[in-house]
Amino acid sequence: MGLPPFRGSFTQQEPIPQEGIVAAVEVMQTGRLHRYNALPGEESETVALEREYAAWQGVPYCLAVASGGQAMQIALRAAGVRPGDKVLTNAFTLAPVPGAIAGVGAEPVLVEITDDLVINLDDLRSKAGQSGAKVLMLSNMRGHLCDMDALTALVEELQITLLEDCAHTMGASWRGAKSGNFGLAGCFSAQTYKHINSGEGGLLTSRDAAFMARATMMSGSYMLFDRHGAGPSVDVYDDIKLDTPNMSARMDNLRAAILRPQLARLNDAIKRWNEHYRVIEAVLKRSEQLRLPVRPSEEFFVGSSIQFMVPGISESGARAFLKASADRGVELKWFGDADPVAFTSAHSSWRYVPEQRLPQTDSILAGLFDMRLPLTFSLADCELIAAHLAEVAADMVTHA
Ligand SMILES: *Cc1c(COP(=O)(O)O)cnc(C)c1O
Repeated sequence: MGLPPFRGSFTQQEPIPQEGIVAAVEVMQTGRLHRYNALPGEESETVALEREYAAWQGVPYCLAVASGGQAMQIALRAAGVRPGDKVLTNAFTLAPVPGAIAGVGAEPVLVEITDDLVINLDDLRSKAGQSGAKVLMLSNMRGHLCDMDALTALVEELQITLLEDCAHTMGASWRGAKSGNFGLAGCFSAQTYKHINSGEGGLLTSRDAAFMARATMMSGSYMLFDRHGAGPSVDVYDDIKLDTPNMSARMDNLRAAILRPQLARLNDAIKRWNEHYRVIEAVLKRSEQLRLPVRPSEEFFVGSSIQFMVPGISESGARAFLKASADRGVELKWFGDADPVAFTSAHSSWRYVPEQRLPQTDSILAGLFDMRLPLTFSLADCELIAAHLAEVAADMVTHA
């Protein structure tokens, strides 16, 4: 083996920009960490973040909350989902998505995915018909966008309310329209491994004033809903404010202070992620053993992680692939594991969700590998990682 082992960390994020550190220290010096604790005429960091994120996303309303999961849970409730309702979502997603649906007392109805890792629209149609579900929480898992033109036409035809989980598509777009702007609401995460990092955090966006007023009350605004950076006008709250429970899921000024400079640099970060992605993609594409999901030309994605498939690989083969990669310093996740490991999770491990048969998704996940691409890697690191993966794939055939 001629290649030196890779020694980088797949979980090492970039530091918070100096400006954000200074702003966070200032917030701590004032002691005014709560979003509604501002001096007369002072704009709190949380309010400023909402204003800036709404502008960046190109929508009138943005609400900053405690996590991506809370953004989704509030979105479901504010969209009118009631206990016992059924909610459609992709079978390939992360646990916070079925968790948010279960959190409002609703029941996830899992929809198959395609070989290119996006929701299967034929199965969506059939599951919508069978279940009678009227809401879809579309999870743009690992940054892959389905045909958004076909999807929006389908939900319109079926009269389904669309909510988007954009934890991996902050900054992505379909024919120039930003991910998160296709339905009633977009749900974003600022958890450490997403595109902006405050440890934990979430953003909810919408163009619907009444929806956003309900969401704002639910997030825990008390009667301070006029102190928002991108909220609906106060008269919208007249019919809402006394009928909406407070569920205390606010963002605080400290987190907002460190997110704002990251948002200002997000386009540059996206450019760098995609350079990393392209380097690895170019090498993996040449491997005869690996298959990359096909990405439509309408999709502009953020390559903060990369996925590839080894179609037909056995369970022992997948474990050997993981081990051979790990021995070379390359940390992969495998979505085919029956037991959830770290952040990956198979639908069968969500035992609070009624068991569902998803043969197509199961067979895709059995051969699906995933790798994070933190921006602390250089392009040379990416070359080395890709070369290792190509060798592991080639060895696999020799030893088969
Ligand atoms: C991270 C993530 C979320 C939201 O997660 P939080 O940790 O609650 O911010 C939602 N969906 C997917 C697919 C995710 O990966």
